[in-house]
Amino acid sequence: MNFGLLYGFGLLVAIISKGQNVQNMNFKEERFKMVTEQIKSRGINNDEVIKAMQKVERHLFVPNDLQKYAYQDRPLPIGHKQTISQPYIVGLMSQLLDVEEGEKLLEIGTGSGYQAAVLGELGGEVYSIEIVEPLQKRAAFVLDSLAYKNVFTRYGDGYKGWPEKAPFDGIIVTCSPTKIPQTLVNQLAEGGKLVIPVGIKNVKKLVLLEKKKGKIVKRNIIPVRFVPMVDSEGNNY
Ligand code: SAH
Repeated sequence: MNFGLLYGFGLLVAIISKGQNVQNMNFKEERFKMVTEQIKSRGINNDEVIKAMQKVERHLFVPNDLQKYAYQDRPLPIGHKQTISQPYIVGLMSQLLDVEEGEKLLEIGTGSGYQAAVLGELGGEVYSIEIVEPLQKRAAFVLDSLAYKNVFTRYGDGYKGWPEKAPFDGIIVTCSPTKIPQTLVNQLAEGGKLVIPVGIKNVKKLVLLEKKKGKIVKRNIIPVRFVPMVDSEGNNY
């Protein structure tokens, strides 16, 4: 018997199966730990949001070399100077939107597609706009490969909203304008909610705006950090 050959073969099998283990890893333990330590413990108590965040595989939405950090308590770079938001912020904004099955939702700033997937899990019909084309393409590919039939993305300028699909029961903006864009308020349905980080430079706050009997009711939630919302010429307003 040629032991050298046998050893070589064994080593090859070990390497291949290890490779597969890494690829098939779904980080379930890390994901549940993230939800317990970062989401529930900070007061997110909407069961549907908790279940959605336990389910959506956040690591699939970040670049391969950053997958191991996907469940940490922080935003991560996704290329093109953009970031996937910190898990807690995704949980908080999703809870504020108070999504009900079948509601029509608009997201401005698709980025990685993670927030859109969470909203998709909540049963919304999600329309999401991204101004950086390669990011929109990648997010569309990931969402498609995960078979989200209720999540639609497009490349474009979120300041314009998505008039063909308006009005929306909920609008979530994941980049920061300096003031609340009136176009988005106009695309909100009666009873609809807009969750948006507004402000300049380092002074930004998360605002919940509701359209109640034609009136606008605004509530400040917490100070936040977000990448700026920009139009196709790069202007932030
Ligand atoms: N929701 C994202 C977070 C993305 S960060 C996620 O879950 O990963 C914010 C995104 O907003 C960036 O990708 C940025 O390119 C995008 N953005 C900035 N201004 C925009 C605009 N006017 N319209 C659409 N997207 C915009």
